[in-house]
Amino acid sequence: MLLQTISELRFRLAVHRRKESNKIGLVPTMGTLHQGHISLIERAIAENDLVVVSIFVNPLQFAPTEDLSSYPRQLDRDLEICEQLGVDLVFAPEPAEINSSGDTQALNFTTAVVPPASMTGVLCGKYRPDHFKGVATIVTKILNIVRPDRAYFGQKDAQQLAIIYRLVKDLNIPVQIISCPIVRGASGLALSSRNQYLTPDEKQQAAEIYRSLQKAQLAFDRRRFKARDLVSLVEQELNRVEGVKIQYIELVDPVNLQPIEEIKHTGLLAIAAYVGSTRLIDNIVLQKRQPIIAIDGPAGAGKSTVTRRLAHKLDLLYLDTGAMYRAVTWLAMESGIDIEDSEAIASLITDLDLKLTSPNGADLPTVVHVNGQEVTNAIRTPEVTANVSAIASQVAVRKKLVEMQQQLGKEGGLIAEGRDIGTNVFPDAELKIFLTASAAERARRRWQDLQNQGRDIDIEQLEKDIQQRDEKDSNRAIAPLKKADDAIELITDDLSIDEVIQKIVDLYQQI
Ligand code: AMP
Repeated sequence: MLLQTISELRFRLAVHRRKESNKIGLVPTMGTLHQGHISLIERAIAENDLVVVSIFVNPLQFAPTEDLSSYPRQLDRDLEICEQLGVDLVFAPEPAEINSSGDTQALNFTTAVVPPASMTGVLCGKYRPDHFKGVATIVTKILNIVRPDRAYFGQKDAQQLAIIYRLVKDLNIPVQIISCPIVRGASGLALSSRNQYLTPDEKQQAAEIYRSLQKAQLAFDRRRFKARDLVSLVEQELNRVEGVKIQYIELVDPVNLQPIEEIKHTGLLAIAAYVGSTRLIDNIVLQKRQPIIAIDGPAGAGKSTVTRRLAHKLDLLYLDTGAMYRAVTWLAMESGIDIEDSEAIASLITDLDLKLTSPNGADLPTVVHVNGQEVTNAIRTPEVTANVSAIASQVAVRKKLVEMQQQLGKEGGLIAEGRDIGTNVFPDAELKIFLTASAAERARRRWQDLQNQGRDIDIEQLEKDIQQRDEKDSNRAIAPLKKADDAIELITDDLSIDEVIQKIVDLYQQI
């Protein structure tokens, strides 16, 4: 329902508010809605009982030289989109209705909200002096008019978001501000109403902005934390692109927006650039994750015991990759699919929902859920054991599981063991260990285990088998065994498990 006056809107909201538990969500926009706005609206709808979308091209945030008169406006189409999405109320006032006619100069003739100078003197604020005063004034007015429980803003306008967080805190406005991730087009270009100004060539050039930020993300992932390095990398990338003129590239604290020289925890790398005559902004948040420990090494070196105990001791998630392959094997068997039918298995796992959780004890197995069902014990039967290597050698399975492992790794705070964890799955792990022992020692340990089980096997034969297995593992086409260049080799011939664990704990504490 479209409402253009404050009194109509207040009446509708009062009716709704009579029920105490009803939550109101607000999505403030300047219209010409695109998928970015739509993502905010969908989230608001999912989290509230009533959703108000405001559409108002705010004159107070445009300098006299800026594009207020040409800013795209398409109210009819926006209303259709809102209706399709199930928005309850669209508030689209004329400037006079909320006493906000005129450009930034009009701020001298009204009561204005002035955000902290420290937050408006950086990034866009340097080039658009009264812009955030105009934004803060209008956002405060709309929050006062609607009085929502939650208001939704995009991370795309990171400076605006930080200022609004601060504004509601400083002015004690009772609303929860929700930040929503940036929505991008297929080329990576952040969606914006102003993208309409771009020609097809300019759109291609504009996509380079995000590509250059991704380069910085990659450098950051490789532990480059200095503003100087990250900023100059983006600068170099963009200087190569014809048609793009950088206005600023800055690394700041995402909360108080103060410039930072080196990222300790989190940094906002923000950019504004002209593509032709269109000014675009974009940003990424660079966040240090909890460390990852990758443990690789030959079979029989004690990786799984060491890893499991370390996970418990250091309170890390044990990314039990073996359990993941077992889970897929169990699922294939449970679904009655032939284990060798790699096509059927590939399609079986397209929407695989696999969850690993830490157990309560050091020597207990990882708790595993597949598609919502707990399978911790079911994946460890002899039948599954017999089939797991046939499953693990399938390219599609491997690809899917490595993707899932890397996804889990984004948050960090995990430890994993295998043959190629440090070389292939987490090449950027903070600590890589290559855990090994001589073939003779591994044969001796295996022989001891078998003796304990009452089995007497020739120790020389065991050693030969181990050497052959090492040879085979090192020459596999997929995921060969190889020490990563930056891995620390631990030869455990003369070490007890506790000593190995202590050495790794010491290394972890030095990260
Ligand atoms: P605007 O209409 O440009 O004032 O934007 C209205 C809201 O949508 C603001 O909170 C923006 O940050 C948000 N927004 C705009 N573009 C995007 C995007 N590509 N992804 C996420 N949020 C966005």
